[in-house]
Amino acid sequence: MFTTTIAGSLPKPAWLAEPEKLWAPWRLSGADLEQGKRDAALLWIKLQEDAGIDIVTDGEQFRTHFVHGFLEHIEGIDWQKKTRMGIRDNRYVVDVPTVTAPVSRPRPVHSDEVRFTRAHATRGLKCTLPGPMTICDTIADAHYGRRADMAMAFAEILNQEARELEALGADLIQFDEPAFNAFMDDVNDWGIAALERAAEGLRCKTAVHICYGYGIKANIDWKESLGSEWRQYEAIFPAINASRIGQVSLECANSRVPLSLIGLLPDKEVMVGVIDVATGAVETPEQVLATIEAALPFVDKERLLPCTNCGLAPLPRAVAEGKLAALGAGAALARARHGG
Ligand code: ZN
Repeated sequence: MFTTTIAGSLPKPAWLAEPEKLWAPWRLSGADLEQGKRDAALLWIKLQEDAGIDIVTDGEQFRTHFVHGFLEHIEGIDWQKKTRMGIRDNRYVVDVPTVTAPVSRPRPVHSDEVRFTRAHATRGLKCTLPGPMTICDTIADAHYGRRADMAMAFAEILNQEARELEALGADLIQFDEPAFNAFMDDVNDWGIAALERAAEGLRCKTAVHICYGYGIKANIDWKESLGSEWRQYEAIFPAINASRIGQVSLECANSRVPLSLIGLLPDKEVMVGVIDVATGAVETPEQVLATIEAALPFVDKERLLPCTNCGLAPLPRAVAEGKLAALGAGAALARARHGG
């Protein structure tokens, strides 16, 4: 009960990449870089387990960014052909690579990493992949013509990858879909269909992470524009509840999401965000407990998984370690008070 997990990413150690920065370039190269990524993943698995996190991740230590870490291994993408694009409904303008031919996955992407992390994680292991809609919102299309068609093509190759990661021992495959909060109509039209295609045939647990993004300025400014109540989840949760995805995340720590929206997910396990990723202030275990208890009227305790709001990657390492400890300790308080 109150099984703990994290959204996925954790800071890179300073010897591996420049800290407190998204897209930070590696500080090692060649064989040293490959060894460094494994060492960093090992470090974070240990620290998560020490903190009492039940379902751990590699902290995204093997990838520069949660979307491009996967796309770098996909054929059909021209990385030299950059297209300037407003992503997440024009929240950020960036130069993105361009799809110029049918996409394919010539070889496994994350298999070696999962073999390594599986060998060292003593508890549950979560593997994260970018969701098809979020991929399509992070890359330009000069081939498919319709975003829904490109999403389905990516969903097929994500499914190949996910099946292999499951076979290697992943306990849970999570698809990261922050774009679901920006394109609610598209989610209902084709986003969930693409997500289900990506998860097709999996027997392990599956999850979708939907969030208001990392605690960076563009997201903080965007949240300021959303008014006193954030109701984006309301438009998509009914269809997600009807889908075959097992777990759904939502932001509850310091957010303006009405917690009653959790009630739209009666058939899902709910990853309740109890750790704010937009502040360097470390929660106390009692604050974590209070957020869990605020969610309890809307979800049975058996279906409530305390989690982080989003990834911790851009935070200072000591802050991330403190937040992991608070998450584990807060969930332990919940178990002590509510049974299990
Ligand atoms: Zn997120």
